[in-house]
Amino acid sequence: METLSEYKEIVELIKASGGDAFKRCFECGLCDTVCPWNRVRQFSMRKIVRQAIFGLTEIESEDIWRCTTCGRCPQQCPRDVKQIDSVVSLRRIATEYGVFPEPVKPVKSASASLVAEGNPLSEDRSKRGEWAKELSVDIFNEEMDILYFPGCYLCYDPRMKKVSRATAGILKQAQVDFGILADKENCCGESIRKAGEEELFRRLARENIKNFIDSGVKRILVSSPHCYHTFKNEYPEFMVNFEVIHITQFLLKLIQEGKIEFNKEFNKKVAYHDPCYLGRHNGIYDEPREVLRSVPGLELIELPDYRERSLCCGGGGGRIWMETPKGERFSDIRLKQAVESGAEVLVTACPYCITNFEDSRVTMEDQTEGSAIEVKEISEIIQEVL
Ligand code: SF4
Ligand code: SF4
Repeated sequence: METLSEYKEIVELIKASGGDAFKRCFECGLCDTVCPWNRVRQFSMRKIVRQAIFGLTEIESEDIWRCTTCGRCPQQCPRDVKQIDSVVSLRRIATEYGVFPEPVKPVKSASASLVAEGNPLSEDRSKRGEWAKELSVDIFNEEMDILYFPGCYLCYDPRMKKVSRATAGILKQAQVDFGILADKENCCGESIRKAGEEELFRRLARENIKNFIDSGVKRILVSSPHCYHTFKNEYPEFMVNFEVIHITQFLLKLIQEGKIEFNKEFNKKVAYHDPCYLGRHNGIYDEPREVLRSVPGLELIELPDYRERSLCCGGGGGRIWMETPKGERFSDIRLKQAVESGAEVLVTACPYCITNFEDSRVTMEDQTEGSAIEVKEISEIIQEVL
C-alpha cells in the first residue's frame, strides 16, 4: 500500500504521462467497440482513459495489463488519444512501484532473464546461435551484405527454430550474403518496453546498437514484426538508422529477382493472418500475400477481420508472458475462423502469432477441428516448394 505522498506522486505521474492526449477523449466509445477484449469479456479502454484524465486509474488494476497494443483503437479514435502510449505510461509507473500483472512470476522471470541472458526465455546466452549449427551459417562480418536477426523465439523455442532454419535454408539457396550475431544478439526489447520496463528496454537497445555498430551492420533482416517495429521506429530514438527488412519483403524481392525458383507445388487452401505489428503498425499487408500468390498450387483465401481489421492473436504488449485463461484467448477465435473458412493451413509471419495459434490448435475443444488445420510461418511454405 502506498503512503499518501506516494499516492499523490502517482496521480501526478499519471496526469503527466497522459498529457493532452488523455484530455482529448470525448467518450465516443469507438475504442471499446473495436477492442478484441470485448469479444471475450467486458473491458473498457474508454474507462481507463477517462479515469486517467482525473488521475484515478489504479495501477493495481488488472485492466492496465490487458491491452495487447494491437493498434485497433488508435486506428479508430477520432481524437488521436494515443491509447497505447497512455497505457504503456501507466505500466511504467506500475513497474517502477513494483506492481506487476498477476500471476507475477512469468513477467518477472522474463524480465530477470532479459537482464541476465538477453532473452526472456531463461535460456543461456551462449546457446543463442545453436539453432544454426548444422547449417554452416557464418558469424556476421562487415564485408557481408545483410545481418539476419532471428530474435529470441526463433533462436531458442523448439517450434520456432524450424522457422529460423527454414529461413536460413532459403537464404543459402538464394545465395544471399548473410551472417548472424549468435551470442552477441540481444532481445530487441520491444515487448518488455510495452510491458512497462523502459530502463530494461533502453539497456537492451543500447547493447544491440553497440554490437551492430561494432560489427559493421547496415542492413538487418528480421523474422519478427516486433523486432522490425522496434529497430525501424524505436531505435532511431538513439540517433541511429539501420535499414530494416522483414522476411516477407525480402522473400518477395528474391522471387521478383528470380533468385528463388519453385520446383514443387503447395496444393492447399491457405489463409493468411496479418500480425498486428506487421500490418496495422507498419502497413505491410501486400508483400506476404504476393509471396503466397506466387507459390504454385497454393490457393490463398482471406479470413474475416483481415488486413487493417485483423484480429490480434493476443501476444503483443508483453501479453505473450501473461496468463490468459481459456475462453479469453483471441487466438482460439482466430483459429476457429480459419477452420470455418475451410483453410487447411493458417499462415502468418510472427513468432507470437505462431506460438499462440499452435497452443490454440492443440487445446481446441473439438480436436477433429484442431487436427484439420496446420499452422505455418511463411518461410516454412517457401522452403517446402524449393
Ligand atoms: S475512441 Fe478515442 S475519443 Fe472515443 S472514447 Fe476512445 S479514446 Fe475517447
Ligand atoms: S490497442 Fe488493441 S487491445 Fe489495446 S485497448 Fe486498443 S483495441 Fe484493445
